[in-house]
Amino acid sequence: MKIICIGRNYAEHAKELNNAVPTEPVYFMKPDSALLTRNRPFFYPDFTKDLHYECEIVLRINKVGKCISEKFAMSYIDAIGIGIDFTARDLQQKAKEKGLPWEKAKAFDFSAPISSFVPVTEFDDIQQIAFSLNKNGETVQNGNTKDMIFSYPSIIAYVSQFMTLKTGDFIFTGTPAGVGPVAIGDKLEAFIGEKKMLTVNIK
Ligand code: ZN
Repeated sequence: MKIICIGRNYAEHAKELNNAVPTEPVYFMKPDSALLTRNRPFFYPDFTKDLHYECEIVLRINKVGKCISEKFAMSYIDAIGIGIDFTARDLQQKAKEKGLPWEKAKAFDFSAPISSFVPVTEFDDIQQIAFSLNKNGETVQNGNTKDMIFSYPSIIAYVSQFMTLKTGDFIFTGTPAGVGPVAIGDKLEAFIGEKKMLTVNIK
């Protein structure tokens, strides 16, 4: 399986990092070794001094598809979860300045904690899902999937032009504004609506 992550999919977040609002989706990838499941703790890596959380709605792909048209794209998602796209912001900044790839900053071990998944049929409208992240009990990110610049169908159609999507792949759909640093001892809790879906203790 693979993890595809959409960058800059919420205008307010693009602005907070001084990035232009994109005219086509920006994506990068994390390997399967980035997954962190079952609310396991995350151990702060020693190669960064500026680890950031980015809370994101995650799609689970349920069948193989290539060059998927927007019209049929929703049938390729069977469930929704929430995850954190951990980012070594200092390494990413250096890579951006030099025009180098982001893998060191984004694709390290356990950089993708994910929750359990909820079938799409349990949502009234998955393009209007409220989600949030608490750090040490205070809300630091508040998003709604209606504010995405690129909708799920457009993301799936776009990415599948270049890469075959396969059963079990995950798509992180971008983070709203409010990203920030974490420190050892912090507790992150991610919510879909009012329901707590994911807890990550930083150790
Ligand atoms: Zn992200």
